[in-house]
Parts: sequence; structure tokens; C-alpha cells
Amino acid sequence: MSTDTRPAGAKPAGAQHAHTKTTDTKPVDTKTAGTARLGVDRVLCSGHGVCAQTLPGQVRLDEWGYPIVDSDVVDAKQGRQAVTFCPARALYLRG
Ligand code: SF4
Repeated sequence: MSTDTRPAGAKPAGAQHAHTKTTDTKPVDTKTAGTARLGVDRVLCSGHGVCAQTLPGQVRLDEWGYPIVDSDVVDAKQGRQAVTFCPARALYLRG
């Protein structure tokens, strides 16, 4: 007799949601890396546009002031600055 009370077809306990992002989130040591990859959390971003000023030529703004990342590979030092200056904490670096 089974003691499992989950509905038929339910995922086992501890299984991840299908939409859980498991790739591209590997931490990078941006203090020693020469380059890093820039990401924007579009939910947090509020269109301040500081990133386009911090990373000219790599980030530009659309007509509403939200960033368009032309090249996500950035100089690690500049990337750290952009992350620090983003008032919405919407920028991040990844490996
Ligand atoms: S500085 Fe931050 S909040 Fe402003 S547009 Fe860039 S990512 Fe968005």
C-alpha cells in the first residue's frame, strides 16, 4: 500500500519548477575576470537610463528609456560600475 498522497502525475517532492532557470547563472569572479556578461532584470528595471551612460556603445535606450543591450560582453570593471550605479538594482553580471 502506498503512502504517497500526491495526485497522479505530480512531481516528486523537491523537483524544480519547469520554468526555473538553471543555466547561465553561474557566478563569475568579476574582480579578476577581464570581461563579464551583463544581464538586465526587466522586472526590476524602471528605465532610469544610467546604464546607457555607464556603458556607452554597449547599452542604448529604447524610445521609453529602457535599455537595449547591444553587446552583453562588457569590461568587468565597467560592468561592476554599471551594476553599482543602477538605481533599481536591475543589472547583474553572469559567467
Ligand atoms: S540603469 Fe538600471 S533601471 Fe535604469 S535603465 Fe538601466 S537597468 Fe534599467
